[in-house]
Amino acid sequence: MREILHIQGGQCGNQIGAKFWEVICDEHGIDGTGKYSGDSDLQLERINVYYNEASGGRYVPRAVLMDLEPGTMDSIRSGPVGQIFRPDNFVFGQSGAGNNWAKGHYTEGAELIDSVLDVVRKEAENCDCLQGFQVCHSLGGGTGSGMGTLLISKIREEYPDRMMLTFSVFPSPKVSDTVVEPYNATLSVHQLVENADECMVLDNEALYDICFRTLKLSNPSFGDLNHLISATMSGVTCCLRFPGQLNSDLRKLAVNLIPFPRLHFFMQMWDAKNMMCAADPRHGRYLTASAMFRGKMSTKEVDEQMLNVQNKNSSYFVEWIPNNVKSSVCDIPPKGLKMASTFIGNSTSIQEMFRRVSEQFTAMFRRKAFLHWYTGEGMDEMEFTEAESNMNDLVAEYQQYQDATADEEEYEEEEEELAD
Ligand code: GDP
Repeated sequence: MREILHIQGGQCGNQIGAKFWEVICDEHGIDGTGKYSGDSDLQLERINVYYNEASGGRYVPRAVLMDLEPGTMDSIRSGPVGQIFRPDNFVFGQSGAGNNWAKGHYTEGAELIDSVLDVVRKEAENCDCLQGFQVCHSLGGGTGSGMGTLLISKIREEYPDRMMLTFSVFPSPKVSDTVVEPYNATLSVHQLVENADECMVLDNEALYDICFRTLKLSNPSFGDLNHLISATMSGVTCCLRFPGQLNSDLRKLAVNLIPFPRLHFFMQMWDAKNMMCAADPRHGRYLTASAMFRGKMSTKEVDEQMLNVQNKNSSYFVEWIPNNVKSSVCDIPPKGLKMASTFIGNSTSIQEMFRRVSEQFTAMFRRKAFLHWYTGEGMDEMEFTEAESNMNDLVAEYQQYQDATADEEEYEEEEEELAD
């Protein structure tokens, strides 16, 4: 069995993580006490990817929950899946991170990190053959963002050959708590570029727009945004949870989607007009993409339809990676639907979102606004400068591959330019 260890941190991470477990428990027929009450063998065939089997035939999520304050976890404990988690896997402090990345990464979070790593180690040791980790967090706050990326770097140090997948919620002023979110997000991206293998980008700006414009919700709540997020997380992980060939583990998913190691930030599609990330794929090109269909349908028809879409939109796919769209079919649809599909794209247009955050970052950093909150926790201004340029480099790299063509002469010119 190739197990995945799930970790959720901070308010947002814990809220979307709890929703994820609600949805997948439902899909796998696991009830609120951890008992199986489903109706298909397919639900149990790969249950060990996300669950441990405990005595008495109960299934327990392989999940670690962390926070720097107890509030969110208290409400998870009293929620619909609160009782199925292993009680020892709730690790929390009392201080809070006050939306300060430095508190999460260097001070308050650093104090609690060893207790979290102890639980992580224990779960990892229980695995037959751990494939990797998935972390749910927001990038705009202090705990999920600062402490989340600290944990990611510690795990990378201890388990360098395991995969690290993140579900990362990017901040937007449309749903914002505080003005310093672009700082926290940029410092986090700096970490994720180096220490995560694959990042599923969930952008609050886009989620808000989908709720407001498409679903006509006049005042979307986190609950509304999280509903979209949990549906996406269910779709993205479906190939890992149910039997099938394509993208059946985290490494295979990475091999198909990541042509260059730093460019591992994926956007998901809600429908053709709405991406889960505020970037328009028509402003860029897909390096790679993967489509997952769920429900009873013919693979032949799916393949034909996908080819049709690609042929009609060929200019939006780089021509120098042939066959860069993969599709798969999973028999089990999400609860309440006959059919569904999830689309994950590695599109150069994601630079639009990074540019948005970068502009907000630079506007404040130019005047050193709010910096004292970070230097007060012992941070060096240099780390801000480095994070800023790392993100700007990332944007430039996306642009470079967006402009790249299959033409050999141009390729050589580009090489020369880069060499100069
Ligand atoms: P932390 O507890 O210190 O990690 O801080 P938060 O998770 O509250 O981080 C604040 C950021 O997360 C802001 O950008 C919020 O808009 C966002 N956020 C907080 N809770 C949720 C949630 O439940 N869903 C979504 N989509 N975003 C959230």
